[in-house]
Amino acid sequence: MSVEPIVERSPKVADEVKKTTCYMCACRCGINVHLRDGKVRYIEGNRDHPVNKGVLCAKGSAGIMQHYSPARLRSPLKRVGPRGSGQFEEISWEEALTTATGWLAPIRETDPKKLAFFTGRDQSQALTGWWAQQFGTPNFAAHGGFCSVNMAAGGIYTIGGAFWEFGSPDWDLTEMFVLFGVAEDHDSNPIKMGLGKLKNRGKRVVSVNPVQTGYAAISDDWYGVTPGTDGLLILSLIRELMLSGNIDVDYLRRYTNAPWLVIRNPGAADDGLFLRDDDGKPQILDRNSGKPVASNSRGAAAQLQGEVKLDNGAVAVPSFMLIAQAYLDDAYNPDVIAGKVGIPAARIRQLAADLAEAAFAKEIVINQPWTDWKGEHHETMIGRPVSMHAMRGISAHSNGFQTCRALHVLQLILGSVEVPGGFRFKPPYPKPAEVHPKPAGRPDQVTPGKPMAGAPLGYVLGPDDLIIGKDGAPQRIDKAYSWDAPMSAHGLMHMVISNAVAGDPYPVDVLFMYMANMAWNSSMNTRGVMDMLTAKDNESGEYKIPKIIYSDAYQSEMVAYADLILPDTTYLERHDAISLLDRPICEPDGVADAIRWPVLPPDRDVRGFQSVLLDIGARLGLPGMVNEDGSAKYADYGDYIVNHERKPGIGPLAGFRGENGKAEGRGSPNPAQLDAYIENGGFWHTEIPDAAKYYKMANMAYQDFAVEMGFFDSPQPYDFQIYSEVLQKFRLAAEGHGDVQPPEHLRARVKQCFTPLPSWYPPFEGSAIDEDEFPIHALTQRPMAMYHSWGSQNPWLRQIHGYNPMFLSQTLASKVGVGEGDWIWVTSHHGKIRVPVAIMEGVNEHTIWTWNAIGKRKGAWQLDADAPEVKKGFLLNHLIHELLPPKGDGMRWANSDPITGQAAWFDLRVKIEAAAAEEPAEVAPQFDQIASPPGLTKPEAMLRYGLEWTKSATKQSKKGQ
Ligand code: SF4
Repeated sequence: MSVEPIVERSPKVADEVKKTTCYMCACRCGINVHLRDGKVRYIEGNRDHPVNKGVLCAKGSAGIMQHYSPARLRSPLKRVGPRGSGQFEEISWEEALTTATGWLAPIRETDPKKLAFFTGRDQSQALTGWWAQQFGTPNFAAHGGFCSVNMAAGGIYTIGGAFWEFGSPDWDLTEMFVLFGVAEDHDSNPIKMGLGKLKNRGKRVVSVNPVQTGYAAISDDWYGVTPGTDGLLILSLIRELMLSGNIDVDYLRRYTNAPWLVIRNPGAADDGLFLRDDDGKPQILDRNSGKPVASNSRGAAAQLQGEVKLDNGAVAVPSFMLIAQAYLDDAYNPDVIAGKVGIPAARIRQLAADLAEAAFAKEIVINQPWTDWKGEHHETMIGRPVSMHAMRGISAHSNGFQTCRALHVLQLILGSVEVPGGFRFKPPYPKPAEVHPKPAGRPDQVTPGKPMAGAPLGYVLGPDDLIIGKDGAPQRIDKAYSWDAPMSAHGLMHMVISNAVAGDPYPVDVLFMYMANMAWNSSMNTRGVMDMLTAKDNESGEYKIPKIIYSDAYQSEMVAYADLILPDTTYLERHDAISLLDRPICEPDGVADAIRWPVLPPDRDVRGFQSVLLDIGARLGLPGMVNEDGSAKYADYGDYIVNHERKPGIGPLAGFRGENGKAEGRGSPNPAQLDAYIENGGFWHTEIPDAAKYYKMANMAYQDFAVEMGFFDSPQPYDFQIYSEVLQKFRLAAEGHGDVQPPEHLRARVKQCFTPLPSWYPPFEGSAIDEDEFPIHALTQRPMAMYHSWGSQNPWLRQIHGYNPMFLSQTLASKVGVGEGDWIWVTSHHGKIRVPVAIMEGVNEHTIWTWNAIGKRKGAWQLDADAPEVKKGFLLNHLIHELLPPKGDGMRWANSDPITGQAAWFDLRVKIEAAAAEEPAEVAPQFDQIASPPGLTKPEAMLRYGLEWTKSATKQSKKGQ
């Protein structure tokens, strides 16, 4: 019997398949791009790839629509109308590059810091940071300052790594997984795959998040914490675990600085510092001898209690005694904090009990011998199978750095970092702050016409490392590494434009940006930033930021505000290195890196930004980018990826090195390296030896492997830093010790916030406004289907999120008298927006929230003027200011974490009221339509009517078969 097929069989869609790396979000999954007649027909996941093992998400498959977007820029552009008008004329690449070089060359020769070079979702910071250093400007950073620097810096300073790119839960062995403040944007596929594993194994998933969406929606338990109080909750969990004796004492002794002796000498310059021997080695109290010995002494039995009398009359005690004293305090009693964190005390106690049960009652023992860095041999590896993950939710607050540190301390007292079943590092991490470079940029490190004496970003270890002048004045345009944000590992991109316009600490001449939509969703105070970008000097009539160069692949809102546009390619048309020198794609059991390569040639007059940057560098004669005769050293970025050596034998890619292409980690450049990657599916991967897979920070087999791979030149084992001497050094300075001290107006803040043990203080915005007037917290979440502002121009993804409502609980909606589909006004101390309402449960009762970066400005991204993203999509950014409200003395502090400068997006407080019935059903504010740059064709119906377009495209493809 013949059966009529219900659906037609799919015709063969591809002539060839090319394997590269996805860039539809930051996970960097391996993809197979199916091509036919020179066109992309289909994208699937690469089953061999270490990151996604064949899994592809909605964004990844919609890459085809990104690649063919009508919003793609088509040629270099020169502004011909006023800034912000969007009026441009097309120019040649030669004119564009000559113009850029003409603007940059004079400032390099006179005052290189007059260039502010900032990048957004750049995945090539190993190149861009090096370029800035060779140019000689300290004014470089990427978007970390307004994303999750608290998470990264809190992790590096505490455990030598952080979540996501630095590490991962041990998905195969963990018994309990806790997510703090995570939306779906980072580590997207790997977390989804991991959650799948946990669900299959019947393991417990817990979410702590004001909003129960995304991953939280499939959690077994949801804790709807009040925004900005996560730190208080975590410290309360630590108290409960300590009180009940559920801490891993042996782990704390062996792998953390809990036994390190801390000097107690109130008022003196050494108070709170570690007791060290003449070699600078921190001391512990040895139970066997009863004396202080170096912390790395083989066979010493570290005491966690006791006291050592010092010659000067002071004493030193193990830091564990300070930890116990700090966290057993009644201030963290669940009964005391329950109201503030929005979670009943009994549930907090239950969460602590669940963590203890998973960590200790379900202990894992792996029979794998290993040797630690003190030379002590271990027959087994002990696992505490509790793992955690966190991201922007706990990070983007003014108390976020200390909250992130507190979370790592919670992991450490459970003994669950870098152990079986716990949180595990991905190479080249772990890597403590001391092993990273310190930032450069002080006046003595910046010389006109020369490279800067060091990289612009790094990790400071005390006040002496700050990037300030002799008078204490900030030296960077964003004031990173000054007393405003001393431990600012990623810079403060959100402060660059406002500081440059204010000329504080100085004006810049050229603002050069890449993939950073600062005129829209990437800025706080969006309208204000647009005004700043167009602000003119009253006397000269010139723009306050005289020249703006911008590179992007698409017509984002920022394009209209630049003077010179360098159009980038799509991710399928270029070379990229997913490098161990930058943000790796390794897994806890293996080392990996990957490439992108042009699977299609560009059909427009565009060039990959990284190649353009190297071209500009060569035209400027920057060292490392030119040969001795002044000619360009690299033909393009692909050539650089293969032949650049950061130091002998170490280049952007670690695989297929050496003359025969067989070397891994270290090796001379291999001219056939890119071909080898392409042949291998676009990536390289090598397994870590079994004896080196856990306890990496203390495991000599791993340390030797890391040296072999080129992560370090010598082993760098270390203890985790629960007690931070770095923070104490800043606090001592605020108390009046040392040559480098904070200005008077910041002393009290440094003393309050730079506690050497993680502490909690209320978010700054809540303290600066009248909480009765603005009683509600307002947040954004990143949707799983979108990656920043790219997604809502993509016709496939627009069908998932065409606009963004403001989500309210039914209780809150009833209080205001609105229902689903009604409109409300949301007002902060800074602004007011009119937005549509959706009702949901599963949200903290004092919180409203919406999806991030869906709303678009009229005329941008080639969307129709009446597209839903324009009429019903909005940004919360209009409500947030980069500065806090004025204080009594008239001063306005940055709306940032005082330690790292992280933008405190999630401190936002608002009030809501129903919009009047006669008001238009349209978001407010609206802005003038931006003109479309020349060369961009008006899109077919596809961008406005995604579904209709899909139907017509299907018809056409059938005709073509
Ligand atoms: S998770 Fe990100 S990188 Fe992976 S397929 Fe999806 S969009 Fe691409």
